[in-house]
Amino acid sequence: MAHRVTLIPGDGVGPELAEATRRVIDASGAKIEWEVQEAGLAVMEAEGTPLPERVLESIRRNKVAIKGPITTPRGGGFRSVNVALRKALDLYVCLRPCKHYAGVRTRFENVDLVVVRENTEDLYAGVEFEAGSAEAKEIVGLAGGRIREDAAISIKPISAFASERIVDFAFRYAKENGRRKVTAVAKDNIMKATDGLFYRTAREVAKRYEGQVEYDEWLVDAMCMQLVQKPELYDVMVMPNLYGDILSDLCAGLVGGLGVAPGANIGDDMAVFEAIHGSAPKYAGQNKVNPTALILSGVLMLRYLGEREAADRLEKAVAAVIAKGKDVTYDMKPNRDDPTAVGTKEMGEAIVVAMGG
Ligand code: NAD
Repeated sequence: MAHRVTLIPGDGVGPELAEATRRVIDASGAKIEWEVQEAGLAVMEAEGTPLPERVLESIRRNKVAIKGPITTPRGGGFRSVNVALRKALDLYVCLRPCKHYAGVRTRFENVDLVVVRENTEDLYAGVEFEAGSAEAKEIVGLAGGRIREDAAISIKPISAFASERIVDFAFRYAKENGRRKVTAVAKDNIMKATDGLFYRTAREVAKRYEGQVEYDEWLVDAMCMQLVQKPELYDVMVMPNLYGDILSDLCAGLVGGLGVAPGANIGDDMAVFEAIHGSAPKYAGQNKVNPTALILSGVLMLRYLGEREAADRLEKAVAAVIAKGKDVTYDMKPNRDDPTAVGTKEMGEAIVVAMGG
């Protein structure tokens, strides 16, 4: 039976990346019925919002979406469509696998990490008070001399509910994807209340998976050092929002950066797959940028849909094209001006050929 999937091309380089991704997924053997939903800059002009209700309804109906990047205008305009999507659909997991593929120039090989980042709370909850506001003064009063009167204040909420569901997701993901270990990352030696609660909850969840998936803990600062020295020792890592934001970019850097880093935002029964890079507006319409990150997000999507064979076939073909280093975009060539670099579409076609299609 075909899976219905919402395809949001996005703006900037989004549409050309989405087209290449759709083409390779169609050639992977999985049966997908695409429901294209436009969102982003042009939609803002035409419909008054960059994320119309019809897009959300489509994702709620189909449960799975893949999206190209969407521009967030700086200094006004509209707020990030990505943040709005996560909030509207309660996509509380930000999943960032970071795997090294032979042929991508990096400092490390043998890196195969997965960052599971909590997406809804922590310092990113947006509970902030300007310095001198009535609320800030009230909190300064409550803090008994531990906060200066001229301080601006951001609140860091960490709940047992959100910690439990993110850590449980990390263990389930580890189990279902043949991973051996989950590492919880926080800093409870300093933040005993919030990060202490995160670790206590994680330990409880870990007991449910005893004998199936190993569990360990690292403090976030030490974890950073471990990752840049011995990244091959780690597997799935789960953490609150802020640490997750930082470590997922760190790990993407370990495996070659923006052009190759896929991602997903996942909730209880819905998921939106997307590359971590943005809309690179200066390259829009030039058939130039690297489709790998969105295509690998498509691989994650196929696995989520239970299409494991198609996912493996597509991932192998991507790996083969990158390893050969011939039909790849400019950013994957040793020299960025290399005239043998191919375009977005041609790299996609080379992946189709590598699948035998
Ligand atoms: P960006 O990721 O769009 O681009 C930065 C640079 O990285 C590009 O100029 C390009 O040199 C390189 N790059 C990015 N993707 C590439 C690819 N696939 N292949 C080759 N090179 C690539 O970051 P930015 O310029 O900071 O952001 C542009 C817009 O995208 C902003 O409006 C931002 O808000 C938005 N954005 C959207 C998302 C999303 O939709 N998920 C994520 C990040 C940023």
